[in-house]
Amino acid sequence: KLKQPRLPSWLKTDIPSGNNFGRIKRDLRGLKLHTVCEEARCPNVGDCWGGGEHQTATATIMLMGDECTRGCRFCSVKTNRAPKALDPHEPEHTAEAISRWGLDYVVLTSVDRDDLVDGGSNHFAETIRKIKTKAPHILVECLTGDFGGSLEGVETVARSGLDVYAHNIETVENLTPYVRDRRAGFRQSLRALQHAKEINPELITKSSIMLGCGETDEEVLHALRSLRESDVDCVTLGQYMRPTKRHMKVHEYVTPEKFKYWETKGMELGFKYVASGPLVRSSYKAGEFYISNILK
Ligand code: SF4
Ligand code: SF4
Repeated sequence: KLKQPRLPSWLKTDIPSGNNFGRIKRDLRGLKLHTVCEEARCPNVGDCWGGGEHQTATATIMLMGDECTRGCRFCSVKTNRAPKALDPHEPEHTAEAISRWGLDYVVLTSVDRDDLVDGGSNHFAETIRKIKTKAPHILVECLTGDFGGSLEGVETVARSGLDVYAHNIETVENLTPYVRDRRAGFRQSLRALQHAKEINPELITKSSIMLGCGETDEEVLHALRSLRESDVDCVTLGQYMRPTKRHMKVHEYVTPEKFKYWETKGMELGFKYVASGPLVRSSYKAGEFYISNILK
């Protein structure tokens, strides 16, 4: 039986701080927005909201409720086969709130909604269009699901005016059936990413992999190559952290040096940027990476 390895020092983090942090936190109260940053108690809040060197503040907003129709073995979001109906005012309210907020880069994400005919793609698209109308200067990234494999769903989002299309493969091909919900698929995810790029070649596409789930180096390399073959521009790699005892175990805590190694490998493979480190999450400093690597 696999014993849980001990938490290494590089995963213990400080309380968030930074210039923008207090202000954004105060603003959020009044805006009634749900950020993943706060709700998942993300350790990067100080870095992301603070804005770093270029002062590009990033936050991740959750759309379409907090109950998912899927149940991935690593994820702490609640599962419900029949979640609440969508709030038709959410696109408008979200856009209004974001436009009043001092953000430069916003990541919109959601639970998977296999209960909806279009998987929620039109809801995403409407939110993006509304944000771009009210605040055209804000860069918008969408971290979407796979829309049940529907390329139409991918297309709806890809044509809505966003800047970055993100969808996470989460793990290597061999571990996919074990780590992700059975409705997800490694190839299905690659197809979604490739299709987004084909539909709109201006888009930057992006994906993310968690390490520490039991994958081998060859499998990671294969996953990175597969992403490049699907024309994916950027990738992030971070440590899998077990949310509760009911979730799958951490197989290993990957060292910061090893993350650095994957960053170098990824850059060699031709990604526009690779964010790789124990605490990196899919949206980690997304705005700052975008400004310094894509717009340069
Ligand atoms: Fe928010 Fe993502 Fe940054 Fe965490 S990594 S603080 S969830 S934007
Ligand atoms: Fe979590 Fe996404 Fe899987 Fe739903 S589909 S359980 S939100 S990782």
